[in-house]
This record gives sequence, C-alpha cells and structure tokens, in this order.
Amino acid sequence: MTNDVRASLSDAVARVSDALEDFLRYDRGDAYERRDQWRHSLAGPLPECGIADGVLDELADIVIPNGTRMSEAGFWGWITVGPGTIPVAASLAATVASPQRATLTAFNHLEELSLDWLGELCGLAPNMKGVYSSGGSVANLVALGAARQWALAQVGIDASAEGVGGRAVAIYCSREAHHTILRAAGVLGLGRHCVRSIGTDGHQRIDIDQLDEAMRADREAGILPLCVVATAGTTNTGAIDPLRACAELARRYGAWFHVDGAYGLPGILDERVSALYDGLELADSVIVDPHKWLGAPVGIAATFVRDRSILHRAFTQEPADYLEGSFADPDDVRVSLDSLGIPYSDFGVELSSPARGAVVWAILREAGREGVRARIVHDNDLARRVAQLARAHQRLEVLTDTTLSICCFRYVTEGVADLDELNARILRRLIQETPFLPSGTLVDGHFVIRPCFINFRSELSHAEGLVAAVLRIGDELVSTS
Ligand SMILES: *Cc1c(COP(=O)(O)O)cnc(C)c1O
Repeated sequence: MTNDVRASLSDAVARVSDALEDFLRYDRGDAYERRDQWRHSLAGPLPECGIADGVLDELADIVIPNGTRMSEAGFWGWITVGPGTIPVAASLAATVASPQRATLTAFNHLEELSLDWLGELCGLAPNMKGVYSSGGSVANLVALGAARQWALAQVGIDASAEGVGGRAVAIYCSREAHHTILRAAGVLGLGRHCVRSIGTDGHQRIDIDQLDEAMRADREAGILPLCVVATAGTTNTGAIDPLRACAELARRYGAWFHVDGAYGLPGILDERVSALYDGLELADSVIVDPHKWLGAPVGIAATFVRDRSILHRAFTQEPADYLEGSFADPDDVRVSLDSLGIPYSDFGVELSSPARGAVVWAILREAGREGVRARIVHDNDLARRVAQLARAHQRLEVLTDTTLSICCFRYVTEGVADLDELNARILRRLIQETPFLPSGTLVDGHFVIRPCFINFRSELSHAEGLVAAVLRIGDELVSTS
C-alpha cells in the first residue's frame, strides 16, 4: 500500500480543488476535442508500482480538465447539473467522517432530521417518514416495493416472502411517466407488461377518464389494481398530474397511491403553482431527488411513506451474524458503535450506504426554506421568460404549458416541410457551437427544444441568449437550405 494515511488530506484536497476551480471557469473548451490527448495519457496497463500522490497531479492535470460540461451555466439538458459548493463540501465531510449512515453519530442523526425537513419543505404530512437511496430510479423501486407488499397483503400474500404468487396485477401511470416505473415493475417481479400506459389530456397530464376506464376493465378481468403512479413534474414537460383525482381512483379500486416528484416536488414552494399539488397529502408514497432541483451531488433521492414498517416488511434483510452479533443489547448503549441507529438498511435495497443526510441538511441549513423557494421561483421565471419571448416571436412556438422550470418550444416558418428535422438540426448546432445546452424531446409527436432550468448558475441573460441563438441558427439554416 502507499503512504495514504500519512498524506495530508488538506494538501490533497487543495490540489484537487484548485483544479476544480479552474475547471469551473470553463476556459478549456470541450473534452471531446482533446480526446486523443487524454485517452493517450490515461492509457496503459495496471501499474505494478504506484506513483503515490503523483496521482493527484494526474487528476488535476488530465482528468478534471476533461470532465463534463454539465456544470456550465447554460446546461439545461438533463434534470441533474453541477452541484452547489456547500453540498460538495458536506459530501466530502460525510465521506471522511462517516463513511456509513449507520451508528449513533451526528451523521446518523442528520439522516433523519434532514428527511423530516425535506418532507416538510415539500409539503408532506409530518407522519411521512423517509429513507434515502441513490436516485429516483431506486426511490421509485422502493416505493413500488412498498405498494407491492401492501396490495398483495390485501389478498393474503406476503410478496416479500412468497413473490406475487402468480397473481395478475396492474400499475397505472401516464405515458409521460418516467421509464423507471417500468423497470421497477420488472425488477419487482411484477413484469413490465403490468404497467398500463394511460393517455394524457391536452396538457400532458394523465387523463382521468382513461385511468378510470383502465382500472375498471382490469378489475372486471380479475386483475388486482396494485398502484396508481402520478407524476408531480414530468421529466419531459414539467406537467403535474391531477393528484387528488388520481388518489380518489386509487382509493376506489383499492390501490396504493404513489407520487413521483423526483424532479418537480420542490415546485410546491412556488405559490404560482402550489395549488396544482392539491391531493399530495393523500399519497401513500412520494419520492423526491435532492440531486435534481436542490443541487445536491448526484446520488441522493428520498422515498417517503406513512409507515416505514411497510418498508421493513418489504425489504428487511435476513439477520447477519457479523452485523447483529457485534451490537450491545439495547439497554447497554454507551458508545456510538453500540447501535446502528435507525435501521435504514432494512427500508430499502442498500446495506452499505453513504451518509446522505448531512448533504441535504447542509443545503437546507445554507438556504433555508426561503432560499430554496427563491431558487425555485427564479428557475420557473427563466422558463416563463423563454415562453414569453417565444410567444411574442412569429418564428417561435411554445408547445406546452410552462408549469415548472421546463419550456418546450420550437422554431417554425412557412415553407419548411420537416420542422422536426429543422429543430433537431438547430439543437445539434446549439450544443456544438454555443454555451446553451438544452435537450430536445417530443411533444405530441413534434420535436421541440427543451431547456430545463434547475441550474443555480443560470441567469435571465442566459435564458434570453438561448432564444436569440435558436432564432439566429434557425434563420441561418432556413436561408441556406
Ligand atoms: C429523473 C427522474 C427519475 C429518475 O431519477 P434518477 O435520479 O435519474 O434515477 C424518475 N422520475 C422522474 C419524474 C424523473 O424526472
């Protein structure tokens, strides 16, 4: 081994953080242009002897400068961006001072405190209790695991122990729901085919009549309606499904009601749209990703349920001698290692897990509810500004409501046969030539440009710059075709 224990942490972190500060100044162009160089520098066989802290130089000089552009102010493509500074520092603190969330430490305490704060921030009832996991994918899996446990218990099956017993079940979500719902159904042994993809109304929200119809048809066919999934902020357009109506149908047909708020749950803080979350209090489970709109480093999502004992029934692990055997009896707890603390590892699918609570706590402590609210409102303002500019311009068209911080718009002009192809070319040129990095998606079959503003580095001028760039590139492409 190298002299890792003797190396100074602050020297090592300083070396890396100087390189990171440089990186964030974005003066190095795109990593892809230099790929021959960094691939060459990073090639080679497994080293026989190490280079000790020389690796810090390689990190600083070769790896970091060739990272991703997702931290740039104009990155609006995915619903994850470069994290804030304080959460990065908190994440480092947790990595060093509490490599696990378990044992009776300040970090374990912050796990629960931050979950309670996060739930309160997002308008959940105080009896909703949470558990962290690595992202919305796992958070949805955990929630649907609870739904599976609960719904099959209604017909006398312990799904965790017995599987689904050949029982036909159905999960309902709109066709705009995130595809991780399908994957979760597959992983949970329910089968992807059990997911009913329900059509949407004119605003990309689940169509309640079609949902009712599908649930009735399944019940008549002897299929157990297991769960209704509503999305509070769809990934594509930011639409919020009618939560109360979904909850009422779930109740009527005896199904669990899950709200996927991975991206959009913090949107409830913006008073212009908070009424759209009416019915959230009826949810049996809710997820939110702090690594999306709250700016945490990637790897942090939360699942909330009313009663964590359902998660315990769905996910508890079998006793392990090396774990249980090493703990004192509960009446003789004197040091931090005498207990694991709240048994989060029984509430999901991860045993070893970072202490993520310290990161979320740091975010909420840094900004407070008002600071987070201001950020959400600012981001929603950016989407509204794009929509306003696009509506005012003859050659731009907005295709959806601008509910949260996503605006779906496109370039339009007479005499161009294939607007989808034109807008796809505009998007490619934006990404290749400009500092503006939105994504594209399909709305009602039309290709649109889709900025999603959750990036705390973005200002109004960036949003306005995007609109100007779309117009300029669109005009150029049309005039040269
Ligand atoms: C992003 C997203 C997910 C998946 O979350 P990851 O953190 O990327 O795993 C699930 N649902 C919705 C609505 C999302 O926007």
